[in-house]
Amino acid sequence: MHELSVISQIVETVIDEAKKNNAKHVDAVQLVIGELAFLGVEQLEFCYQVLSEKEPLLAGSKLETEIESARVKCSSCGHEGGIDRVEDPIDHMMLPRLACPECGSSTAITAGSGCTIKNIIIVLE
Ligand SMILES: [Zn+2]
Repeated sequence: MHELSVISQIVETVIDEAKKNNAKHVDAVQLVIGELAFLGVEQLEFCYQVLSEKEPLLAGSKLETEIESARVKCSSCGHEGGIDRVEDPIDHMMLPRLACPECGSSTAITAGSGCTIKNIIIVLE
């Protein structure tokens, strides 16, 4: 499960940061998830629950998530914007369309494809 490996890395990072800051406990971890990161929020929260309970520093802490909208930039005409979604005629899934709406060239994703820790809320005493 992809979410489990993502969360185990996040838990490691949070523990490192908490120790560096002499935290007694971690209250909450705020995570920003890109809409193109293909991560399920419910699965992330479930994995966090399972892994954090094993860590004294993290036990009982909350995972707070927010979704970051994806943005793309066209390398040909410089157009920047959000992504359109088109329905796949075979799977009937909504897929992001990565062609530039202005000129049809392919675009590069500039935001919304990752998963990053925004903030760690710690208790110092
Ligand atoms: Zn373009």
